[in-house]
Amino acid sequence: MDFFPIFLNLKGKTCLVVGGGEVAVRKTSVLLQSGAKVKVVSPELCMELRKLEIEHLPEKFADTHLDGMTLAIAATDDRAVNVAVSEAAKQRNIPVNVVDNPDLCSFVMPSILDRSPLVVAFSTGGASPVLARLLRARFESLIPEGYGRLAAFAARFRDKVKAKIAKPSERRLFWEEIFEGRVAEEVLIGNEKKAEALLEERIEKNESHRGEVYLVGAGPGDPDLLTFRALRLMHKADVVLYDNLVSKPILEMTRRDAARIYVGKKKSDHAMPQEEINELLVRLALEGKRVLRLKGGDPFIFGRGGEEIEKLSSRGIAFQVVPGITAASGVSSYAGIPLTHRDHAQSCVFVTGHLKDNSMDLDWEMLARPRQTVVVYMGLTGIDFLCSKLVEHGLPASTPAAVVQQGTTRNQKVLTGTLGNLAEVTRAAKLTPPTLIIVGGVVSLREKLSWFEPD
Ligand code: SAH
Repeated sequence: MDFFPIFLNLKGKTCLVVGGGEVAVRKTSVLLQSGAKVKVVSPELCMELRKLEIEHLPEKFADTHLDGMTLAIAATDDRAVNVAVSEAAKQRNIPVNVVDNPDLCSFVMPSILDRSPLVVAFSTGGASPVLARLLRARFESLIPEGYGRLAAFAARFRDKVKAKIAKPSERRLFWEEIFEGRVAEEVLIGNEKKAEALLEERIEKNESHRGEVYLVGAGPGDPDLLTFRALRLMHKADVVLYDNLVSKPILEMTRRDAARIYVGKKKSDHAMPQEEINELLVRLALEGKRVLRLKGGDPFIFGRGGEEIEKLSSRGIAFQVVPGITAASGVSSYAGIPLTHRDHAQSCVFVTGHLKDNSMDLDWEMLARPRQTVVVYMGLTGIDFLCSKLVEHGLPASTPAAVVQQGTTRNQKVLTGTLGNLAEVTRAAKLTPPTLIIVGGVVSLREKLSWFEPD
């Protein structure tokens, strides 16, 4: 290890920054964020520096500027000045950093991920600041915004827990359970009051809480379209209930040792009836498991997510719902078909084309309105019926329309045509589900806007 990493308390201390340009702005800002006072020595200051709350000495650097300083940073493009600052500071044992000159530094500045009071610092010891920044960006997604709040929350209860659980090893287990369990979850989603009540109860009774259910939208297929929260809960769950719409690469991203239960769902042969799925969720949660109910797209859009949590709610089981990118949104983006557009559509409707008694029970008048995009979920079987009904109710047979197979995945296939010929085009193509139908003038934009063309 070339550098010893520490976190300095600079509150109320004065630090010296030599230089008045852009780099000085960046360094000064970080110092101010950590509560330091900053003295800037530079004949001139750039606009941004002038806006910051600093003490400015409009002169050239002199040794005496280091009097009473806690640390010093040289951020000029004049090597001689940088060397002078470095040498003078070292002589007085004041930690010094010279931007982009590791040889002149007694300390280096890391790339910072600030989730105060949680702070993560990345350093390559000056070898490659860009690499440190890239790594920091990666961790940004791993450590959600709420972790700062979680650390602050834990701090508030530290003494109380210490008083109640004397043994350090027991205390460590206690906190591990808290950070892995429901209390932390409640803090992360912003329900701090509830979290507090649960923690108090946990401290008093000293017994674990029951399980919980995460109803998570997995998006339309491409794993890159998962949300940070979805991913976090996928890594946490003990049991995963999934169906056909959840792509294999996404399922692979759930915790390795989690039990995976297929509760499949195809249009006509449900592998497990909805009622049984609801019951299973309840049973697993009552056993104390963290249950992940993973659904394609968004759980609240043609996903029966509402029914599942109704059951949980009636049984007093904790749950949270994580939205996902719904098929209409993901598929249209990847197919180059904007759902609204000033010239083509001012509104957009999502409907399900699921057949009941071989016909679709839809509000055709409303669907056949001009300047509107209609997205049909589960509509392939009824595509003939759908297209002819829309024409019957007034849309021109020349209205552009598309069918997209397995959108956002490597198997994406987009077929375009018109209301007049889409059914025929689709029949000839032998598509594999899931497929989405998009009807409206916006489909004509695809020729210009298509960007994702897997072979
Ligand atoms: N909750 C899901 C929809 C479930 S209904 C969501 O918000 O997306 C299932 C229907 O969604 C399928 O029949 C199909 O019409 C559509 N669908 C889901 N994923 C799709 C994909 N990757 N490509 C095309 N259609 C898709």
